[in-house]
Amino acid sequence: MKYVCLEDLNVKGMMQNGKLAASIARQGFYEFRERLTTKIVASGGSVVLASQWFPSSKTCHNCGQINSELKLSDRIYNCPHCRTVIDRDLNAAIVLSQYGEVNQSTRVGCTRIYACELEGADSPG
Ligand SMILES: [Zn+2]
Repeated sequence: MKYVCLEDLNVKGMMQNGKLAASIARQGFYEFRERLTTKIVASGGSVVLASQWFPSSKTCHNCGQINSELKLSDRIYNCPHCRTVIDRDLNAAIVLSQYGEVNQSTRVGCTRIYACELEGADSPG
């Protein structure tokens, strides 16, 4: 089954940050998520929502180690463990796709999964 993994960003909290609020509002995050989910579910897929606490940016897609030193201003992910060097956002996207794959079967850590295909899902949200 195809799926898309989205990160459950804390939009409300981010809106309270003056620097971020305008750009988040402009991007219409909620509306985007709703539309995307509708499309995916309509075509038989499912959406895995990663917890907002899941460290997608700080996790290395290659070795799985967490780089807690990564700052918001760091645009390049430098892994101190396996020496991988990769664009920060690309790394996070790969990590989230791996998360989606894992949680498609186990659903560990999923806060919520949209759609009809999840009979018996024991996700907490
Ligand atoms: Zn690594």
